[in-house]
Amino acid sequence: MNQSVYNFGGGLRQDAPRSRDKTIVGGKGANLAEMAGIGLPVPPGFSITTEVCTAYNGAGKTFDDALRAAVADGLKHIEAATGRSFGDPANPLLVSVRSGARVSMPGMMDTVLNLGLNDATVEGLVSGSGDARFAWDSYRRFIQMYSDVVLGLDHHRFEDALEIIKEDNGFFADIEMNAEHWQALVKDYKAIVEDQLGKPFPQDVHEQLWGAIAAVFDSWESDRAKVYRRLNDIPADWGTAVNVQAMVFGNMGDTSATGVAFTRDPATGERAYYGEWLVNAQGEDVVAGIRTPQYLTTAARTRAGAKPLSMEEAMPGAYGELATVFDLLERHYRDMQDIEFTVEQGKLWMLQTRSGKRTAKAALKMAVDMVHEGLIDEATAIARIDPMALDQLLHPTLDPNAPRDVLTRGLPASPGAAAGAIVFDADTAEHRASLGESVILVRVETSPEDIHGMHAAKGILTARGGMTSHAAVVARGMGRPCVSGASALSIDMTTRTARIGDRALKEGELITLDGASGEVMAGEVAMVEPELVGDFGTLMVWADKHRRMKVRANAETPLDCQVARQFGAEGVGLCRTEHMFFDAGRISAVRQMILADDETGRRTALAKLLPEQRADFQSIFEVMAGLPVTIRLLDPPLHEFLPHSDAEFADLAEATGVGVDHLKRRAGELHEFNPMLGHRGCRLGITFPEIYEMQARAIFEAACDVAEKSGDAPIPEVMIPLVATKRELEILKALVDRQAALVFAEQGRTLEYLVGTMIELPRAALMAGEIAEEAMFFSFGTNDLTQTTLGVSRDDAARFLGPYVEQGIYPRDPFVSLDIDGVGQLVTMAAERGRATRPALKLGICGEHGGDPASIAFCEATGLDYVSASPYRVPIARLAAAQAALAASQL
Ligand code: PEP
Ligand code: MG
Repeated sequence: MNQSVYNFGGGLRQDAPRSRDKTIVGGKGANLAEMAGIGLPVPPGFSITTEVCTAYNGAGKTFDDALRAAVADGLKHIEAATGRSFGDPANPLLVSVRSGARVSMPGMMDTVLNLGLNDATVEGLVSGSGDARFAWDSYRRFIQMYSDVVLGLDHHRFEDALEIIKEDNGFFADIEMNAEHWQALVKDYKAIVEDQLGKPFPQDVHEQLWGAIAAVFDSWESDRAKVYRRLNDIPADWGTAVNVQAMVFGNMGDTSATGVAFTRDPATGERAYYGEWLVNAQGEDVVAGIRTPQYLTTAARTRAGAKPLSMEEAMPGAYGELATVFDLLERHYRDMQDIEFTVEQGKLWMLQTRSGKRTAKAALKMAVDMVHEGLIDEATAIARIDPMALDQLLHPTLDPNAPRDVLTRGLPASPGAAAGAIVFDADTAEHRASLGESVILVRVETSPEDIHGMHAAKGILTARGGMTSHAAVVARGMGRPCVSGASALSIDMTTRTARIGDRALKEGELITLDGASGEVMAGEVAMVEPELVGDFGTLMVWADKHRRMKVRANAETPLDCQVARQFGAEGVGLCRTEHMFFDAGRISAVRQMILADDETGRRTALAKLLPEQRADFQSIFEVMAGLPVTIRLLDPPLHEFLPHSDAEFADLAEATGVGVDHLKRRAGELHEFNPMLGHRGCRLGITFPEIYEMQARAIFEAACDVAEKSGDAPIPEVMIPLVATKRELEILKALVDRQAALVFAEQGRTLEYLVGTMIELPRAALMAGEIAEEAMFFSFGTNDLTQTTLGVSRDDAARFLGPYVEQGIYPRDPFVSLDIDGVGQLVTMAAERGRATRPALKLGICGEHGGDPASIAFCEATGLDYVSASPYRVPIARLAAAQAALAASQL
């Protein structure tokens, strides 16, 4: 049986590695132990391990005697270190109880403070602190918090009771309440508890403690925690630890304070302490947005034009000590820290440290700066950036020249611009976003219940809350633009209207947020494309130095190719030629070709398409000069191009001179029951070779033309889709080679080119050894390979895959992140068999998975030569490929 409780603080050296291991004692517990171990002032406490959580939730939610004994020992440790006793009316020990998983999880029970207070110990607190007002206020806070998070009682009645006392006495603010008022409120609170619970508020301090411990473990199984786990890929079996720690008080008068701080600016990455504090307040007051916190540093206060003194000014001694701790912690962890502290009557206490959440921009700046400061090396910098977070930087920002109708300004809580329709609650946000609408979630303040709505929204706007409010922290973590604390904003939920000054905005009206400036604007403001310079550029240079695989783009227009090149693509991995067929100017010729009665009719229509296709390829080759361009011949079933409406049929009849009835009959003949497995891919080339002949000719003519003009010959890679057998490829490769030979003879030049195939059917993977006799390259079409291996239709999967992922049947959507266990085996096998036949066989991936970091790591391990992703994902793929290569080299 593993040790279930680890003590920290009170002079312990924390030698046991498990006492500092976040998988065992949670992130919070591990960091408290680590801080205490390096001699920082940490209130003494103990952590109950995550293993206990898993056992408790798996075994009927009970605690055994061994655990009870270990917790009793933990309490003794705190008692010895503080000189107080738990439940002792003369000299009571009070504790906080907090949850703490491996990673911080806003979905879970957070904190119960002041635990250990009851009708007897409160008197001890009165005499011990000499402050009756403080003691009774602490007791009422404890009852309220415990009732809310442990007993699950409705918090409104507590708030109402406080309002009534204030009204009865003509008070406006809590500060006007004296000890007797708080004492009276305690009486009211206890009556509310008894009324709702059917029994009195627990007076036994041990019952209080075990109730809180159970509540933490139960919260691991709450719906909110489950949603958060699903969104963040956190396994259910990690469990959470419980941290029990001696209370220190930031609300013991004007020499006491509490605050949160970052060692660098989490929004910009700037190397400056950054944070908020409140004098005479308890921890939760800062994050809950109830009182508006003050700036930590004088520089930040001055910049914001704020009046209330910074901590640097008001408490220079404690601030100086804090600044020393900041530097020490950064050097110790070699990363930006997010810190919670309390000053109790002038004495500084550290309550938490962890690697701080940051925006992508800040993450880049910090990583690059820390390399330059000698704190970390390039490989660490590369590993530290979440590739998906780059997404934040790869998307448009507000056009500085666009007109702006600024409604108000709040705090710039999470950068990036977003425009969308106003919604006032998380469920509406999720619903409207699922219908494809861009929405902005507008709330007074957010809470963990809103997570799904924040995720669905393009941006978040709140009326209350500082830079470290829930909305701000979560939005930064998710990469959603957020403006918080827009105090001019009020929301009327009955009429579902937001008011800003004299402007009224109904749900559904458009607004734009600039999370970098805090501006809130009416309507939709124009945006501009991002530029990849500065820290981004530096990190990309490092990533490129450390990666092995090439990164190409899936692109079919010159514009896409330009974006892709600008993002660093080293060629095109997939040009889907059918998208060119849909072009408004050509669809008529395409339809003519499809509906033609015979080959002659088809050839006539194809002749019209040839110059158009040639021009497409020319411009793509020009943009991708000197780089490989993989062009895939026509893939989708022909009926996809057919007219649908009567008007479209009438237009086509006029263009072709063929009657509508005849056209409709031909269209009917092309109908398929299961088009995904039907007349598509290379089957079109086998049955209508003239289509592929035209496309091949267009490719080679365009390549010769560009070579002639620029001297920088492109390297076309002609790709045959949906191949299942060697013979299919043999026939079609001969067709392509014939066209190449014809064109080269006509043009009087020869160019290098490759013919290869997609591996997107299980049979192709199985027969890869044989297919490689014909193919010069394989490109894994993992969209179709996933569809055909799982027997799950790509077009219908969205309707049922959600519950599959929720129930852990697939760990993630297999169309987003490769099913490595299943589909991955086919990829590995095809790569091995293909290379056994043809050692120089070029291998790449062009399914959506080519832009997914986990799948990219798999591609690295499988030895692919390149991944191909959509243009905006190219930088993500470059970074993920570097991370994969570095991880592989460290094995
Ligand atoms: C694939 O199947 O993975 C692929 C890239 O082709 P498409 O998505 O066009 O079917
Ligand atoms: Mg495919």
